[in-house]
Amino acid sequence: MDQGLITNPKDLERMQGELVSLQRRITSLEDDELEVMARLEDVQTTLDSLAAQVAAADERLAGLAETRDARTADLDAELGTLATDRGPLVAGLPEDLLALYDKLRASKGGVGAAALRARECGGCRISLDASELAVIRSTAEDEVVRCQECQRILVRTPESGL
Ligand SMILES: [Zn+2]
Repeated sequence: MDQGLITNPKDLERMQGELVSLQRRITSLEDDELEVMARLEDVQTTLDSLAAQVAAADERLAGLAETRDARTADLDAELGTLATDRGPLVAGLPEDLLALYDKLRASKGGVGAAALRARECGGCRISLDASELAVIRSTAEDEVVRCQECQRILVRTPESGL
């Protein structure tokens, strides 16, 4: 066109129209590209922030897992020691008493026997009334006494208040 090679005015007009239209389309696409780049930048910023949060959470999780594992190892060691200590302590006890204790311990939040102290059950913290105390007082020392409220084995001590 610039070299004057197109002599037909209609062709020239049509081509100029196409050029204007193409220029408009290029400008529009450039605008779109800028918009997409701006959005991409926003999304990248959000992504970076989320990735940082995930990394921080992962780090915290790893720390917590480490603490949990150390605590579990401590508890396992403590459990082992307690099991070792328990052996000789229960060796002389009657099997039915041990079975009762283990059953109660399992159903009473880990406490199968409680001291009777100042007329109160150490398991449920309920004070025994006079008639219950009278029954316990008249029960032989080697008989198993149980709390009427919580059913735990009551261990009589000098501080029982009998
Ligand atoms: Zn009780």
